[in-house]
Amino acid sequence: MSPPPANPAPALQIERRVSLRAHNTFGLPATAATLVRLTSDADVRRVVDHPQLGRAAKLVLGGGSNIVLTRDPEAVVLKVEIMGRQLLRQTPDAWIVEAGAGENWADFVAWTLEQGWPGLENLALIPGTVGAAPVQNIGAYGVELKDRFDGLDAVDLVTGRSVTLTGEQCRFGYRDSVFKGPLAGKSLITRVRFRLPRPWQPVLGYLEIERRMTETGNHAPDALTIFDWICATRRAKLPDPAVIGNAGSFFKNPVVSAEQCHDIIGRDPEIVHYPMPDGSVKLAAGWLIDACGWKGKSVGRAGVYEKQALVLVNRGGASGAEVVTLARAIQESVYGRFGIRLEPEPVIV
Ligand SMILES: Cc1cc2nc3c(=O)[nH]c(=O)nc-3n(C[C@H](O)[C@H](O)[C@H](O)COP(=O)(O)OP(=O)(O)OC[C@H]3O[C@@H](n4cnc5c(N)ncnc54)[C@H](O)[C@@H]3O)c2cc1C
Repeated sequence: MSPPPANPAPALQIERRVSLRAHNTFGLPATAATLVRLTSDADVRRVVDHPQLGRAAKLVLGGGSNIVLTRDPEAVVLKVEIMGRQLLRQTPDAWIVEAGAGENWADFVAWTLEQGWPGLENLALIPGTVGAAPVQNIGAYGVELKDRFDGLDAVDLVTGRSVTLTGEQCRFGYRDSVFKGPLAGKSLITRVRFRLPRPWQPVLGYLEIERRMTETGNHAPDALTIFDWICATRRAKLPDPAVIGNAGSFFKNPVVSAEQCHDIIGRDPEIVHYPMPDGSVKLAAGWLIDACGWKGKSVGRAGVYEKQALVLVNRGGASGAEVVTLARAIQESVYGRFGIRLEPEPVIV
């Protein structure tokens, strides 16, 4: 009889009929027929090589803070729980830090600051996982993930091959990347590396930060102060998903040409807009929705948050279909009044 292998591969953690309500920040009801918890790259490859799971459609799930579940997914749900964080190297001009895709993003940001590696403070308190952050190139308060990105590792969900992608290969755009386009559902990000430039330069050109500087008289805040200001601002402005289900901003801010913007300003001089370096203009989607009278309104058990019209909320027991019905009604009224099509930010499943 041959001896057992020295280190037998741990079995895949496969669960059946799993409620996803606690796995999405909207708190929407849906059941996964099969959910697999992945704690390593090897687990991902085991899924790809598995006789049944390998052939099935797959839905990659992080913290569920950017998805709207409208039905029970037919796909096998792959819950990413790959952990670990470390400083890979320190050069004269950067700290290179790496984190597993399953790490909580907000905890990771706080940890980098505690270690004395500033650079991610403007992206404080964004819910979700490290692995999902490149998917929509998360951004807040004047910084996007792409500004601090070094590279990522992923596993191809068809071939099981490991790949490493650079920022250029990820094709980052405004709330967009290759993972929302050609690689959507085809690739599972396992690890992300960040390049935090030295010496640290604060990013302060954002209204809320400028307001805090004026209020406190501190015109040269350090990274921890910026982190604290942003956490306080976010807590005051955004609903806590643990209390009111939501997925953050529900629509992207539309980008229009300077001429289009000029026309709109002619009709609505107060429209909130930001000129972009390429000459186009970004309009505040929340302002457009508010202007159409949606703030605080509800359709069924889905509603528009009272303090921020860009955030749709679950008023208790809402279904994904109700959220989508409300979103469509908002899109129609914004199109009717401004001729602008709002595009949802979360992934609708
Ligand atoms: C209160 C609140 C505030 C928010 N504020 C912001 C903000 O300021 N800026 C911002 O950009 N976003 C914001 N968001 C949206 C959300 O937090 C981010 O998009 C976050 O990165 C989603 O992470 P997640 O792990 O929850 O992803 P999920 O919702 O689980 O997944 C989102 C998408 O990414 C895919 N995905 C997830 N993990 C992986 C992986 N490892 N490999 C490949 N694909 C993967 C999923 O298949 C899905 O398509 C906010 C959300 C909430 C609820």
